[in-house]
Formats: sequence, structure tokens, C-alpha cells
Amino acid sequence: MPIKRNSTRTVSIGSTVIGGGNPLIVQSMCTAHTRDAEATAKQATELSKAGAGIVRIAVDSKKDAQALEAIRDNCDANLSVDLQENYRLAASVAKYVDKIRYNPGHLYHHERSKPVEDKVRFLTDIAAENDCAMRVGVNSGSVDPEMKAKFSADDAVSPMVSSALAHCEMLDRIGFDRFCVSLKSSHPDRVIEANKMFATQRPEIPIHLGVTEAGMPPDGIIKTRIAFEQLFAAGIGDTVRVSLTLPEAEKYKEVLAGHEIIDDFLAGRVRTVVKFNPDALNIISCPSCSRVENEAFIDLARQVKDITEDLKDEAITIAIMGCRVNGPGETDDADLGLWCGPNYVNLKRGEEKVGAYRYNEILDHLQIEIAKLLDDRNEAA
Ligand code: SF4
Repeated sequence: MPIKRNSTRTVSIGSTVIGGGNPLIVQSMCTAHTRDAEATAKQATELSKAGAGIVRIAVDSKKDAQALEAIRDNCDANLSVDLQENYRLAASVAKYVDKIRYNPGHLYHHERSKPVEDKVRFLTDIAAENDCAMRVGVNSGSVDPEMKAKFSADDAVSPMVSSALAHCEMLDRIGFDRFCVSLKSSHPDRVIEANKMFATQRPEIPIHLGVTEAGMPPDGIIKTRIAFEQLFAAGIGDTVRVSLTLPEAEKYKEVLAGHEIIDDFLAGRVRTVVKFNPDALNIISCPSCSRVENEAFIDLARQVKDITEDLKDEAITIAIMGCRVNGPGETDDADLGLWCGPNYVNLKRGEEKVGAYRYNEILDHLQIEIAKLLDDRNEAA
């Protein structure tokens, strides 16, 4: 089925090109520890063979950065580096990758006295010198607080869109146009709304689509499909990632899921009658990456799903995140949030911390909090 695509500009990333009506590219991300160059190169190769046109690798430390040369030497995948607050690491890794992703929210927090535009300029200079593309990756859970304060607390979409637009304007002023933008949330309806708003205002900029922390299959694939089908139908999207919570050996399945959603859409096998039900149990879990602090995270996500099997019709959102980088912020909007440290799992009710518990204790405490939540709701009703 031919689909009308927005006429975005083309952006080349290694041997691939996104935008300008080129085929949609599926991406993925390594979960092996980046400092383990052998394991990361092996996983990047597997993801590429499964059909990932671009493979992202997290770099948070000098040790991670030092591994990039060996990773580059041992795999042919188009590589994107994922930077969090320490954006300066781009200088040591750019020559080994094809794309640099930064998160405006994280950039805001590092070197607070420096204007954000100076930090963006630092990154664009590095990208231009090293033949790299860039992605402005906005996540609803980590929008910078100044931007968030401009909107009402219940508006999760406008701060994301405004942050993306502000960074596009900075890049315009700098004169750098080899970039794409992503606006991600764990809620498919917000992903749809944010991307439509952004594409209306900047239709020429290629868009990377994703429902972040979509969770485990099949629920995570369903949530993602709901968002992608609506956006593809509106001509939006140049590259996609399906963020699924999967063990390292099965990570390639998120690439297959991305291709299946695209192929189904192109063949007219759409399921847009499926709506995201906000009045049912919603388990959000991050797809994990090299930042995961304890391998038990994947099992924990599965166990949370198992113990909540009987709560399918309760409007409860539980978020499970693999590390401290995104865990504290990305669990704020959930009714109950768990974010994993090396030895303890932090439990939250909304933005309030309940406690930190060992991996073998956390499920009992979660069940206590679920019962309290339901009791409170019954009383209120
Ligand atoms: S929450 Fe942490 S471990 Fe999970 S995907 Fe995000 S950065 Fe990676």
C-alpha cells in the first residue's frame, strides 16, 4: 500500500539515509556493557543482521568511550552514540560512530552555568568534524524543569514539543541541519499527539518514532503499534525503534517487531481499531541498555507482570526502570514506580519515595502498596 510520507529532508547516517521518502529504518540499542567491547560489538552485529539500520550504544564514562574504537573495528553496523549528561564524551567517540544522540533535558543539568546553546554548538562542531549526524532526543520523563514550569502540571505533551522546537531553533542558528528529532513517552497517545504537533510546525525535519519503556511483548508491541499506525497514516516517521524489555540474547526481537509493524502497515494490515485503554492495568518497563545496574531487572519486570495478572481491569500504572539515569524521573507519572540500583530496588508511589528494598523483598512491598492504593481508591469512591 503506497503511503504518503511527509517530505522531510534527508539525513545520512553511515551507510544509511533517513528522511526524504527513503524506506523507514528500524533501529535498536545494545544492552551489553559498553566497556565490554567484545560483547557490545557482537550484539551490535547481531542487531544489524536482524535488520537494524542503526544501532545505538550508551556512553556514560571514559571507560565506555575507550571501548568505542574496538567496537568500531569489530562491527559494521551504523552506530549511534547515546549521551546523557556528560556530553563532552562526544569528543572522544565521534570518530568511531555515525550519529550522536543527546537529550535536551540531560544537557540542561550538566554545567548549569553554561548556556545550553554553547553545549549544543560544542556537539555540532564535533559532529561536523567527524561526519556524524545528530538526534535531538526528547523524553517526556526528562524534559528540563524550566521548560516544564512554563506549562500546567497535567500537560505532558507541550513541554516535550517546545523543548524539541527550541533545540531545532538553536540548530538553525548554528547552521547545522544534519539531524532528526524524537519525542518519546511511554504513553502511546502522548507520542501521537507530540509528534503530530511537532510535524505540523517543522514538517521538514526527519522524525525518529518510539514509545519509550513500552514494556514486555506482547503488550509493548501493541502499545507501539497503536502509536506507529496512527503516525504512519499521517505521513510521520522516518526511522523507528520498538523499545521492548527483553533479555540480551533476545534483543533482536525488537528489531523484528519494528519490521513487522512497518510491513503490516505497508500491506494494509492495520489495527487502528485498537485503542490504548487508560482504564486498565498498564505496566511500563524500560527496554534496558548497558546502563542496567543489575541483571535481575528483566526478571523483576516479568515477575511484576505475573503478580499483577489478576489486576488487568484496574487503572493502575506501574513503571519498572533499569537504572538511576532515567529511573527516578521516568517513574514520577506512574501510580507505583520501581527503579533498580545495584543491590536495592527503589519503590515510589507517584513522586513520593516509599523505600528501597532488596531484590528478593521488593515484590512483597509492591503488593502492599498495590493493596493500599486500591483501598484508598475504594474509600474515595
Ligand atoms: S532506564 Fe536506564 S537501563 Fe533502562 S533503558 Fe533507560 S537508561 Fe537504560
